[in-house]
Amino acid sequence: LPEQEAFDIEYWLLEEAKLQRMPKPKSLAGRVAFITGGAGGIGRATAERLVGEGACVVLADIDEESLAATIQDFSNRFGQDVVRGVMLDVTSEPNVLSSFVEASIEFGGIDILVSNAGIASSAPVEDTDLAMWNRNIEILATGYFLVSREAFRLFRRQKLGGNVVFVSSKNGLASSPNASAYCTAKAAEIHLARCLALEGAEAGIRVNTVNPDAVLRGSKIWTGEWREQRAASSKLAVDELEEHYRKRSLLKLNVFPEDIAEAIYFLASDLSAKSTGNIINVDAGNATSFTR
Ligand code: NAD
Repeated sequence: LPEQEAFDIEYWLLEEAKLQRMPKPKSLAGRVAFITGGAGGIGRATAERLVGEGACVVLADIDEESLAATIQDFSNRFGQDVVRGVMLDVTSEPNVLSSFVEASIEFGGIDILVSNAGIASSAPVEDTDLAMWNRNIEILATGYFLVSREAFRLFRRQKLGGNVVFVSSKNGLASSPNASAYCTAKAAEIHLARCLALEGAEAGIRVNTVNPDAVLRGSKIWTGEWREQRAASSKLAVDELEEHYRKRSLLKLNVFPEDIAEAIYFLASDLSAKSTGNIINVDAGNATSFTR
């Protein structure tokens, strides 16, 4: 090689070696994520994953006590600058609007919405009263509509694209015993995400969905009535449920909040820059089988 060329190559190798020694920039540095249900199991795990990648997070939840405890915990562990809490009832139109305004002023904008706040209820259809039906539709389908509408309005104003991740459920695609209201509302979320993916594409707004199977640990849903009813539907004791879900899955694994958070991180980051209108099932293979 001519002397100059050999020198250039050596110099280039040196630069490469230096780059490898430098800490990698965090993939969500400078981005802000608004997470509904942020004081719950999946919401908290997601917030932690996104903060780990350099994002600031706004945790929005209706449960004042859990929210205060979560904000305190995050502030202690990650510093006060990266986390804010906002009281939110996703079914209240004015509350959704004010929480977005508050959060975007606090952090100078929002880049990512994780729509995750939810409840669960279980009853055979003949015992599903109108109040239970309406509650599922309101919190899940309408709640997801209200927060994503506000995110779209803000994203269009910011002109920087945007990213929406819905946390629906395996039950949004498959039927589940004695949960017609919940399954229907979860299915509505999935279809809403597809519609929004179409509407947002031109402005660089991506919308994708994560479908968890049963996530027992860390989830508040699974500490209440739902857990009893799910056990009764499967003719099992409550403490047998986790093993039951593990055994029925193709991979013979349980799913944890951190597993859902990993899929949400993938969809919320540029790793999935070419995905929109898609679904990731985090279910240890359950969506492809007919086992219960
Ligand atoms: P969780 O109960 O731990 O968290 C849900 C959070 O949503 C709670 O903090 C709750 O206070 C909040 N919330 C409820 N109603 C609200 C409202 N009106 N406005 C604002 N916040 C509200 O449960 P999780 O397991 O973390 O569930 C998160 C999401 O994942 C839900 O949408 C749920 O349907 C979905 N999901 C959960 C499972 C599971 O097995 N845990 C499985 C599939 C899907």
